Amino acid sequence: MTYARLGTGISSGVVIGPVRILYRNELEIPQCSLPPQFIAEEIARYQAALTGAKQHLKDIRGQIPAHTPADIVEFIDTHLLMLDDSTLSRVPIEIISSRECNAEWALKLQRDSLVRVFDEMEDPYLRTRRDDVDHVVNTIMRILLNSPVHHSVKPSQESTYSGYVLVTDELSPADAILMQHQGIAAFITEGGGPTSHTAILARSLGIPAVVGLHHARHCYQNDETVILDGQRGWVIGTPDAHTLTHFHQQRRREQNRFIETIRNRHQPAVTRDGINISVLANIEMPGDIESANRIGAQGVGLFRTEYLYMNRLLPPSEEEQFEIYRETLQRLAGKPLTIRTLDLGADKQINNSSTQTTVPVNPALGLRAIRLALKEPDLFLPQLRAILRVSALGPVKILLPMISNVQELQLILRLLQDTCHALQTQGLAFDPNIPVGGMIEVPAAAINADMFLNFLDFLSIGTNDLIQYTLAIDRVDDEVNYLYDPLNPAVLQLINITLMAGRKFGKPVSMCGEMAGDPRFTRLLLGLGLTEFSMHPNTLPEVKEVILNSNVSQLSQLTQTILRSNDYEQFTNLLNDFQYNH
Ligand code: PEP
Ligand code: MG
Repeated sequence: MTYARLGTGISSGVVIGPVRILYRNELEIPQCSLPPQFIAEEIARYQAALTGAKQHLKDIRGQIPAHTPADIVEFIDTHLLMLDDSTLSRVPIEIISSRECNAEWALKLQRDSLVRVFDEMEDPYLRTRRDDVDHVVNTIMRILLNSPVHHSVKPSQESTYSGYVLVTDELSPADAILMQHQGIAAFITEGGGPTSHTAILARSLGIPAVVGLHHARHCYQNDETVILDGQRGWVIGTPDAHTLTHFHQQRRREQNRFIETIRNRHQPAVTRDGINISVLANIEMPGDIESANRIGAQGVGLFRTEYLYMNRLLPPSEEEQFEIYRETLQRLAGKPLTIRTLDLGADKQINNSSTQTTVPVNPALGLRAIRLALKEPDLFLPQLRAILRVSALGPVKILLPMISNVQELQLILRLLQDTCHALQTQGLAFDPNIPVGGMIEVPAAAINADMFLNFLDFLSIGTNDLIQYTLAIDRVDDEVNYLYDPLNPAVLQLINITLMAGRKFGKPVSMCGEMAGDPRFTRLLLGLGLTEFSMHPNTLPEVKEVILNSNVSQLSQLTQTILRSNDYEQFTNLLNDFQYNH
């Protein structure tokens, strides 16, 4: 029977395809191919994990009180015996050797085949014994995940989800990249919000997606056909023929509409009253340059480099990054490339969360972005060197994420200076005047924008985080999503303060948060004086269309009136009037 459910559409596109349900535990198992010289080491790691698992169970057995029923002790003994059985002590090792893969993946493959055997058993009692397999395998797996492989190996590209609509409880940005490599058609998550990094990434990777569909895992079955509308947030299970035809037609209409809007791609973004506006692209992967160029972006206003660090066991080296930035710059053919230094932390973790020993209570307020860069110079310096070296080859800018206090910024700038000296000593070329900018994402940075501008060449407003931190709303928590409001008066004041600081110093201020790519806000931002918009390439043609039809001097008078209002009702009325009647 056809049935529809509504979540939050975060990445547009209509997909019709079969469902694949995936639990979070399964997602956290890394899959890597190993060079032959590392196989012996990997086998030793697996054997150590087996020994660790046995010790763990023996410790538990040793702590069981004397009056505990015998079957509990037997239960642990059974698990100990299973650890000695060749299905777990020998076969995974054979898999590591034959498939040249990491121990976690080998164990997962063996677990899957054991579970299949149990599932096929007629006897209901024996069928339930698969829980024992799960339990024992999870014990080994947890130990393995806490002792990751130490050499540089690449995630395997084996396709497991090709063409499927993935249904899961949550998806990290790293998993989203992995899933795209594996060819998923779309995804549905139970949690998550539209400005989470996974959502931004889904848009960038072109994966239609719906988030916040509560209990989704229990609503669909593996291989059931669903229709997913990533714009409206609909998921329709078991569609009938009539519904299928309707959505096939809608898909075609959407494709045609997109072709229509990119007609303005060669037109400069000039307002009706002759103000030149820059429309730039946000990119997550070097390959995104293709769509940025196709759409007529005037350069890259934000390269989120942290994704280069994901789904691998060692961070990219200086040389590897140099090559990536060099190629990206080359493909931009003279247009500017703004490289944001790594913004890892919060919901953008390098490793699976299961491999971390401690999970911070408030990761978004924790060791993130330049805080992490300062704490881990070994991670940061190769990137800084690579960016500096590439600046010798064309217009490159450095963008520092999440600046929040001046002392911290000074430390980063000192590091930058030291790196320049080191390159000079080595005779390596770089642009000594490379523009260095900071992201305004924390209210403190917006309020003190002019103080930061004493040290920086430009600013870029990251509204995704600025809204999160100003309104105290977790970007990834769908329960508070309804409070995420770019039009909140406090948010608009902070944007205005930052733009005013830029004008005072005669230094550029751009915006690269999702707000810059939302055509509903374009006129308001023009009115506030924003002249540089950086956004996902797909939204650029529509934003440009609004720019072409706007008159900034008219808009700025109206926005100033809105900003001056200190009565909430009046503010809302003026804003509504501005949004819908002008
Ligand atoms: C932002 O916070 O607005 C931003 C552009 O950075 P990110 O979305 O990567 O946190
Ligand atoms: Mg941010």
